[in-house]
This record gives sequence, structure tokens and C-alpha cells, in this order.
Amino acid sequence: MELWENLNNISKKLEELLEIKIEDYDCIENAIKNAKIEKAEWNKVENVVAIFADLKNSTIISNEKIKRVYAKFLESIGYPFSKICKLFDVKFIDIKGDGGIALFQGQYAEVKAFLAAETYKTFQEKYLKNNFERNYKINYSIGIGIAKGDLLVKKVGSRNYSFFVWAGDTINNAALISKDVKEIYSNTSKIGISLEIYDSLSNPKFEEYLIYSCGCPNGDKELLWKEKHLKNGRGMKYKYIENNWCEKHGEEYLNEVWNIIKEN
Ligand SMILES: [Zn+2]
Repeated sequence: MELWENLNNISKKLEELLEIKIEDYDCIENAIKNAKIEKAEWNKVENVVAIFADLKNSTIISNEKIKRVYAKFLESIGYPFSKICKLFDVKFIDIKGDGGIALFQGQYAEVKAFLAAETYKTFQEKYLKNNFERNYKINYSIGIGIAKGDLLVKKVGSRNYSFFVWAGDTINNAALISKDVKEIYSNTSKIGISLEIYDSLSNPKFEEYLIYSCGCPNGDKELLWKEKHLKNGRGMKYKYIENNWCEKHGEEYLNEVWNIIKEN
């Protein structure tokens, strides 16, 4: 093998690739379809909403458990993520090991992403968490971040061994929030959203359902959200959901919001 010749070629190609060139796209689907490994440009789409979901303490979990259980566990994290995001009009999903991203675009994309994230969190908490704790002593939680901004996508690698890489504000900020929200002391999964997403949920059409609790059982409607500074986020603030709806109103509110979205 001509080792140095190979390494020199990779280095030369990398220099070309590191020079960032951008091609603009209107929609996520076309940006992804046209992300090709031979292409030097990053494909860019404006105003994309991203969910970034990531397991807390995944290395501890994988070291303690036998492989078969861990594989089953990862499937229980990934499969519902993709199924549930599809219910809410997702445009693209990418799952890598113990984390995933979901991309939304268009009118009310912020609200759709939040409904998907909240439904996913509910599924983990109500259906899977106890089961894994009881049967396998796996105690886990998930940090979910949602943000909006530009999306950059590129396909990296060589034929047969290629993968997508993501950049831009939407993924970066969603990932930062997901990381930060995991550090809030809690045994349960948490959702954090950028202030821009919060503004969309505060739209008078949705405010009653998405900003305040249902008030059960004593009729006191409370603010669902708290504000926090990102630890390493250049002073950036975000909101995380701290309260909850009861099961009956949770479903009722979700349907009210979904009907408003569909009517428009
Ligand atoms: Zn209620």
C-alpha cells in the first residue's frame, strides 16, 4: 500500500472540501436529495425547525448491560421517534445510535415539532421507562431540544460508505439545548425550546393549550415553562417545560391544536 500517497490525496481533497461553498434550496427534501458525495457545496435551507433527541448517560447504560438488551433498548428509543414524528408531518428523520434528529418546515412547523416531541416524551415515560427499569434495571431519560434556523447538509464519505453531516443554527442550537436540558436534575425526560419556538407556541391560537397547564385537579392554570441560560451558549436563553397537563386534557389539547393546524 502506498501509505503516504493515500494520505496526501485525502489531505488534498479535504482542503478543497473545507472551503465552504453553499447552494440554496427552498425545501428540505430537495436539499437532501441533492446532497451528493462528489459535490463540494453544502446545501442550505432557511427556516427549518429541528428536534434533537439524545439519551442521557448512554455510555454508562451500554457498559453495564449485555449487548442484546442494549440493542433492544436502542430500538425502543429509535422506532417510536420515527413513528411519532411521522404522525406530525416530519420532513426528514436521521437516527444515529442513541440519538436522533427530525426536521420540520412550513407553516406551524414549530408547533408540529413540539407536538411530536411531547408525544414522544409521553410515550417513553408512560410505556417504556417502567418496563426497562423493572426488567433490566435500566434507568434512563432523554434530553430533547427544539430550535429554528438555517440548515446545512452535506453527504460525506465515499461510494457505499457515506453519511449525512448536518450544520447550521437549527441543528446546533437544538443540540445545545438538548445537552443543557439533560443537566437539569431530573429522573424524567425533558424538552427545551429556543425562544423563537416559544413565540410560535404563544400565538393566541395555541396559547391556551401550549403555554398553560389544564389546571386539574383544583382549577389553577399554571405556566408550563421555565427559562434558563444555556451553560455554554454565549448568553443564549431557552425555555423548558416543567409542568404538565393531566392525561385527559393532554389528549384533548393536542387534538384542538392539531385541528387548528389542519384548518389552515
Ligand atoms: Zn386536566
